Amino acid sequence: MIPVFEDTLQPNTLKATKIESDHWQVQLAGAFKSAPDLLTYLNIAPTEANLLLDDDATGFAFKVPLAFAQLMKKGDPSDPLLLQVITRSQELNTISGYSNDPLQEADYNPVPGLIHKYANRALLIAHQSCAVHCRYCFRRHFPYSEQQLKPAQLSAALNYIKQRPEINEIILSGGDPLSLSDAKLEQLINNLNNIETLTTIRIHTRTPVVLPDRICSELLETIERSNKKIVFVLHINHPNEIGKRLADKLTQLKNVGVTLLNQTVLLKEINDSADTLKNLSQKLWDTGVLPYYLHLLDPVQGAAHFNVSESDAIEIWQALQAGVSGYLLPRLVREIPNRPSKTWLNNSQEG
Ligand SMILES: *Cc1c(COP(=O)(O)O)cnc(C)c1O
Ligand code: SF4
Repeated sequence: MIPVFEDTLQPNTLKATKIESDHWQVQLAGAFKSAPDLLTYLNIAPTEANLLLDDDATGFAFKVPLAFAQLMKKGDPSDPLLLQVITRSQELNTISGYSNDPLQEADYNPVPGLIHKYANRALLIAHQSCAVHCRYCFRRHFPYSEQQLKPAQLSAALNYIKQRPEINEIILSGGDPLSLSDAKLEQLINNLNNIETLTTIRIHTRTPVVLPDRICSELLETIERSNKKIVFVLHINHPNEIGKRLADKLTQLKNVGVTLLNQTVLLKEINDSADTLKNLSQKLWDTGVLPYYLHLLDPVQGAAHFNVSESDAIEIWQALQAGVSGYLLPRLVREIPNRPSKTWLNNSQEG
């Protein structure tokens, strides 16, 4: 029984839907939309830990697909996957140094829906929503409704790209670009295929991790038809996020020629140990994914309780370096506004 469906569907209808459908759209519509529903599913008493059950108070809705909840350990209020998505009372604390627009992206927003901050690559906000809501998200206060790519804005963004041949790579981001329907995503990629100066289309997404069935045959066909190099930068924070369903889907992506990379956010009490990160690197490698970035948390209001200090991060990273092959070592980075690239913190090793 999936409690979240109770309001909208009869249990029998639900059963039939779940058995017959591996449609990602159906699964997405059925995601847990409140903390108490997820906790009931996980057999965790709402009184455990300092969980905040009034999601509305945070201004950032609750959203967790069943496929992600299935990777969590039942009965464990400190499960590292649960802690990434559960609302906690600390979100309401106001901490100095934490802001609503920590990256100051407003300065690099030449046309709505496009962020052009680094010389050769630009980022398109392909869709404002995500399949999961991560409580540490640096875009949790982003004015997405003003940034959605409506047809007129898309054509303005495409023109901007065409007029700048120095841009050879487009990053589809958001929110999450895989929130787009298959038809819309195909249309967008077709548009980019037609821009000769582009060599690479990069897709920044967490959706496959929380909803593996999003890697459907329509998407694979769109990718296979593209004349550009396609890179997926996944967002996986903990080895437990890599289950068999995801591994199978990643193999399908590899089979159509996609390069698979991963970025991780360093999060307190979730993955802030060299051992956990080592296991993550190894498991990524086993599934054909290379670690790319290990990000320090962006100082967004409501996420301070996830922060790992820069000095602790460097220490953890150095221990990781001593434990994995060089190609399984992510670059430790932080986003500092107004710099021409992300800032590497991993060149400060002593001795
Ligand atoms: C992170 C980011 C990119 C990509 O940077 P890479 O270092 O190439 O991964 C591009 N544009 C924006 C606005 C970004 O924040
Ligand atoms: S998937 Fe990415 S953009 Fe979406 S809520 Fe999570 S961290 Fe934020």
